[in-house]
Amino acid sequence: TNSVYTGLPTTIFEEMSRLAAQYGAINLGQGFPDVDGPEDIRREAAEILISGPNQYPRMLGVPELRAAVAEAWDRFQGIRVDPETEVLITSGATEALSDAINALVEEGDEVVMIEPLYDCYMPLVERAGGIARRVRITPPQWKLDPDALRAAFSARTKAIIINNPMNPAGKVFTSEELELIAGLAQEFDAYVIADEVYEHLVFAGHRHISMLTVPGMRERTVAIGSAGKSFSLTGWKIGYVTAAPALLDPVAKAHQFATFTTPPNLQLAIAHALRKDLSYFTDLSADLQAKRDRLADGCRKLGFGVMESAGTYFLTLDTAPLGLEGDDVTLARRMTIEAGVTAVPVSAFYGSDAPDRFLRLCFCKKNEVLDEALARIGRWL
Ligand code: PMP
Ligand code: GLN
Repeated sequence: TNSVYTGLPTTIFEEMSRLAAQYGAINLGQGFPDVDGPEDIRREAAEILISGPNQYPRMLGVPELRAAVAEAWDRFQGIRVDPETEVLITSGATEALSDAINALVEEGDEVVMIEPLYDCYMPLVERAGGIARRVRITPPQWKLDPDALRAAFSARTKAIIINNPMNPAGKVFTSEELELIAGLAQEFDAYVIADEVYEHLVFAGHRHISMLTVPGMRERTVAIGSAGKSFSLTGWKIGYVTAAPALLDPVAKAHQFATFTTPPNLQLAIAHALRKDLSYFTDLSADLQAKRDRLADGCRKLGFGVMESAGTYFLTLDTAPLGLEGDDVTLARRMTIEAGVTAVPVSAFYGSDAPDRFLRLCFCKKNEVLDEALARIGRWL
């Protein structure tokens, strides 16, 4: 068949999860917690499934959830958002990304993105006829080079996609970095698609600053969040988009022809989840931080180079100090089959010329699972 998708590999997350299942390996590949999110929220969703409503909700999302999203902006980022005209509920951040890119990117438009990048950005931009302009940040510091970033912008730049906190790098952007990006977006009259799905998974010494709050960016930013990450319910696929009315409008038009809407019971339950006490959110990140440290310490003891992770639930390992045979794809496969532990090869997050010695491990797992994974890798090495 003649499609831009022909020949594209199946996403690495599906690929590695399938391999993990096939070999009964501990799956530290695809990013999902092994403990489900709050029981009261799951119970509420189940009750609404019985009581209803079970028919099409409003196209933009149920009013209760849009109001809760707007309240969360006020509570966590100190900005006012109009739930009626500035919030859209989608079937996961994945749909939100697709809607935003479909709405904003046209044939020949250039879209700047920071590499390593989440795997759907490039295919979606290219499907829309856009051209990806990649800017690379490199481990262990994952610093953004201002000159390289500027060089990626041109008169044809339509948008920049940023992922903050960043998967797989675990980078949390500083206000200086955000202002640098914002300055270029304003100078080149570009939009920012801000994928902020890990907004609440940020560790001590770092703070998530939304691009929507950066001066001058309110009218240019499409901010994307995900209840899957914030409430450990990744299978629910509830995403939210926040943008100024004129910018949200075309994104909502893309949404109405993609999914039109999203299950009402899940939306209503997430409205309550977003209103949870601050302690829910601080406990979530503190708990994850302890898991990060547990896995990082163990990996360091095994001889891996361990990159800093300031946010998300991912740790990037450098395999070079161990002198293992084979590239990251080979090692991820071998570790699944021979050690019984699955990782994701970081080369999957590059458009081309990828480094081939880094593995990504997901640490949102029970402590005993992390310990067993470390023991298995230790025996294998
Ligand atoms: N963006 C990034 C950076 C992600 O890691 C993920 C992970 N799932 C998504 C978007 C998609 O989120 P969702 O599951 O809500 O579609
Ligand atoms: N975002 C998840 C990850 O990076 C995967 C989501 C998916 O499987 N599409 O692991």
